[in-house]
Amino acid sequence: MDFLKSARVLEALLVSTPIERSVIEDLIIANRILADQQVLDAYGDISIRHPRNPERFLMSRVLPASLVTEDDIVEYDLAANVFGARPGFDHCTERFLHSEIYRMRPDVNAVVHSHSSAVIPFANTNIALRPMLHLTAFLSPDVPVFEIREVAKGKTNLLVANGKLGQSVAETLGDNAVALLRGHGAVIVASSLSLAAFRAIYTDINARMQMHAMATGEPITFLNLDEAMEANKLLDNIHKRAWHLWKWRLQHQNVTNDSAVAHSGS
Ligand SMILES: [Zn+2]
Repeated sequence: MDFLKSARVLEALLVSTPIERSVIEDLIIANRILADQQVLDAYGDISIRHPRNPERFLMSRVLPASLVTEDDIVEYDLAANVFGARPGFDHCTERFLHSEIYRMRPDVNAVVHSHSSAVIPFANTNIALRPMLHLTAFLSPDVPVFEIREVAKGKTNLLVANGKLGQSVAETLGDNAVALLRGHGAVIVASSLSLAAFRAIYTDINARMQMHAMATGEPITFLNLDEAMEANKLLDNIHKRAWHLWKWRLQHQNVTNDSAVAHSGS
C-alpha cells in the first residue's frame, strides 16, 4: 500500500500530458473573461478536459480567476489526483466537482463552478431557474438543485471537497447544462470552453432577469421546450461572437498585462 502511494506521488511529480500552449492560453482567457463579467471573483473556477487525454483535465491551482497565469495551470486525473504540479501548490478543494462531472459526462469538455450571488435565490428556494430568452435556452429542460444535506453525513461547510460529494453533484446535474448548489453557487458545463463560459455568464444574466420579472408580480412566459430546443441549436455557433467580444474587451481595456491574453490569437 505504501509502495503504491509512493509510486503515485512520484508519478504525480513527473508525469503530465503534453499540451499545446494555445489550450492553456484559452483557459487563462476564460478565467479572465469570467472575472471581467463578474461571474467569478475571489472564488470559483473553470476547467477544461485535456484535448489529448480524456482521462485528465486542466484547471488553476487555488487563485482568484483574474490572477491566473500559465504557471498556475495544473493537470488532474478523474480521481482529482494531481500530475506535474510544482511543489507547494495549493490545489482547489472543490476539484472533485470537476473530476466527477468529467467522469460521468463524456460529452462535457469544460466545467465552470461559480459562487455567483445571482443564482442563490433560485438555489435556496423552490423557485426554478427557467429560460427567459433564446440565449439561455440551455437552461431547458431543467436546472436541478444539489442539496448537500441529502448526501453528506453530519455538518458540512457546503464545499464539494471529496469524490463522493462530487459524484452526487454530477448525478444531480444529470444530462443538464446547469445545476445549482444550495447555499453555495452553480456548476455549468458544455462541450467547449467558450460555450461553458458563455453559459456561465448567461446563467447569471437570466437569474437577474427572472428576479426582475418576478418582482413585477405578473405571470412570466418562459421559453417552452420546443423553443428552447430550437434556440439551443443556434447557440453552439452564435456564442462564439460573444466570446470574441469578451476577449477583445480584455485585450483593449488592459484588464491584464499578461502575455497570454495580449498575444493570443482569436
Ligand atoms: Zn464552491
